[in-house]
Amino acid sequence: MGFLDALFGRGGAKKAPADAGIQRTVRCNRCGALINLRIDSRNDLSLNDEGTAFFVRKTLVDSTCFTRIELEMTFDLSRRETGCEVRGGTLEQ
Ligand SMILES: [Zn+2]
Repeated sequence: MGFLDALFGRGGAKKAPADAGIQRTVRCNRCGALINLRIDSRNDLSLNDEGTAFFVRKTLVDSTCFTRIELEMTFDLSRRETGCEVRGGTLEQ
């Protein structure tokens, strides 16, 4: 790759950073309303007290019956999903 190519950033196709967004849909157990959420696995995760895994907790409120739905997801240290728990709703996907 020539100097100019390097200068103008031609040639090496820059790989877009992998989308760290995790999309989920939750259905309210009370009224059936669907709630879409997106979790950013780079910024939304917290390390547990033991430092052995990541987790994220989200409180969702659907716009139909305003029920609070608790979602908790767990991830290993490589931020791979290891579990997902929903209270007050059901995971759709
Ligand atoms: Zn509802």
